[in-house]
Amino acid sequence: MKQIVPGFWDIDEIGNQVHAFMLEWEQGITLIDTGMPNHAQIILDVLKRRGIALHQVRRIIITHCDVDHAGSAAQLRRATGAQIVAHSVEKEYLEHPNLRKPAVFWLRPIFALLMQLPAFHQRPVVVDELVVDGQETPEGFTIVHTPGHTPGHISLLHKKQRLLIAGDALVNRGNKLTGNDSPFTPDKKNATRSIWKLAKKYGDDFDKIVFGHGDAILQNGGQKVKSLASQIFSSET
Ligand SMILES: [Zn+2]
Repeated sequence: MKQIVPGFWDIDEIGNQVHAFMLEWEQGITLIDTGMPNHAQIILDVLKRRGIALHQVRRIIITHCDVDHAGSAAQLRRATGAQIVAHSVEKEYLEHPNLRKPAVFWLRPIFALLMQLPAFHQRPVVVDELVVDGQETPEGFTIVHTPGHTPGHISLLHKKQRLLIAGDALVNRGNKLTGNDSPFTPDKKNATRSIWKLAKKYGDDFDKIVFGHGDAILQNGGQKVKSLASQIFSSET
């Protein structure tokens, strides 16, 4: 595990294609995202090696329904008894994973076939607690609804740690901070608005950013998101 700030780790044992995180706080452990369906056992082994009992994992916050983020949610919920926390709009996608489709039509049959493979087969997961924009969680996160990539996508801001968990609202592949314009971002307009929201409303509240995809930014993160937002704005006018 790689510590990002005290009490918060990137569970890098699952590789670096996608990131999942662990927060240790007064009431136990919260996981943020769960990796792919075959990452559950790796995460459970990591917890065990750190001397964390499974019942200490109290909550699992899911940024969005995709198989690389929610893929192990059902297995980890069952193994730990943790509550699954997600945005109210994302609930139906987590409970019915086949509702999620690529934005590009020709990819849909390929995607549907792929989802049958064991490595991609996403089990439905019950959402125990629904959150909405602006809500404060017991761990100290502010929920920021950042739709676009999916309708109920959330980013998590820890103001005290000055840390933003961007999910897939932003991407930092090859150390290049961008929005998410993959074929899996059907609502580009809202995706852009979400970057604006992170920049304008919260840009002064964080320096560090972790991503679903790409390396963490450890300084000047707020400033970088603000610059990205102005770039997008100037290219649109
Ligand atoms: Zn992703």
